[in-house]
Amino acid sequence: MAGGILVYALHDDEGNFNKNSLGAISEAARLAGELGSEAGVVVVGEVADDACAGLGAYGAKRVFHAKSAPEGLAQPVVDVMASVIRDEGFSYALFGGGLLGFEIGAGLTARLNAGVTMEVTAVKVTDGKLIAERPVLQDSAIVDVGYVGEPGIIIGRLNAFDVNESAGGQAEVVDVDVELSEWSTKARMRTRGEQRGADVNIEDAEILVGGGRGLGEKDNFKLAEELAGAMGGAVAATRAVVDAGWYPYAAQIGQTGKTVAPKLYLAVGISGAIQHKVGMQSSENIVAINKDQNAPIFEFCDLGIVGDLHKILPKLTEAIAAKRSG
Ligand SMILES: Cc1cc2nc3c(=O)[nH]c(=O)nc-3n(C[C@H](O)[C@H](O)[C@H](O)COP(=O)(O)OP(=O)(O)OC[C@H]3O[C@@H](n4cnc5c(N)ncnc54)[C@H](O)[C@@H]3O)c2cc1C
Repeated sequence: MAGGILVYALHDDEGNFNKNSLGAISEAARLAGELGSEAGVVVVGEVADDACAGLGAYGAKRVFHAKSAPEGLAQPVVDVMASVIRDEGFSYALFGGGLLGFEIGAGLTARLNAGVTMEVTAVKVTDGKLIAERPVLQDSAIVDVGYVGEPGIIIGRLNAFDVNESAGGQAEVVDVDVELSEWSTKARMRTRGEQRGADVNIEDAEILVGGGRGLGEKDNFKLAEELAGAMGGAVAATRAVVDAGWYPYAAQIGQTGKTVAPKLYLAVGISGAIQHKVGMQSSENIVAINKDQNAPIFEFCDLGIVGDLHKILPKLTEAIAAKRSG
């Protein structure tokens, strides 16, 4: 469909859709409304038809369900999305970001010889076409990116798009049977490990307390956990502490870990190395506690507290708990 926008919806083994994907569907529906077009969704793997149809609540008109394609790997999804785009004539593919979204978006771009914009923070409609807004020069300027051909691939920053659960009703579920390319089936998913060792999916948390080497030792992570608990948030970590075995890899933020964009990122005992920064710089508010006033994190946080975390954290936790209970 001309002007149509196709989104991929990632789900877990229980069939719950990822918040970031729901944001992308909501955004696609909003934009499709302005274009007078349709937001379509691709779902792969075992998910109940009801759950697929339920994506209509976020504005999806049709859900293309490839049951036999495996979930969690990029190449099979590229096969399915490329096939749906070709058969149905979608003009754009929109991703909410996250590691898998980046990989699928990049694969789709190569497969369809398309144009791609990454790290997109907003999308608008101009003269009947989508324009992606992308921050550049360390977020000091925004450029508008349009597409000269179709399809145009748009990969958002993680959680760039808000979830809107009242955009529509039930979606039509269309079963698709796509023949996967030979190379797409070479890798097999043995286990899904994104939440290994962590109770909460940090990519979905609105409040994160990031703990670094400044915590001093593994047991001191309980200070970060107590603070996160008091605020109703989750705990994240730097690579330094993950490598030291203080915290699970599932909680690692950064270049070789996860990308997060919570409403509040509270960095405790974290120096702010570039490899860590790239994973959390999109957080709405960054607060840092560090005893070294020259720590790089003070160059990009919104609020910096110079001091010893061992003294500050217990008092902060107590104060927040008291405020919330009273
Ligand atoms: C290829 C590559 C990929 C990488 N990928 C990642 C990645 O994905 N994620 C990541 O995080 N890192 C990554 N790194 C590592 C990165 O370069 C840093 O080494 C790491 O982020 C540092 O972690 P940290 O801030 O916990 O430790 P440090 O840099 O040692 O900082 C500890 C901070 O704690 C402060 N501190 C100490 N005691 C206290 C106290 N009592 N109270 C308050 N503050 C205190 C110190 O002043 C210091 O600023 C990568 C590196 C490479 C080379």
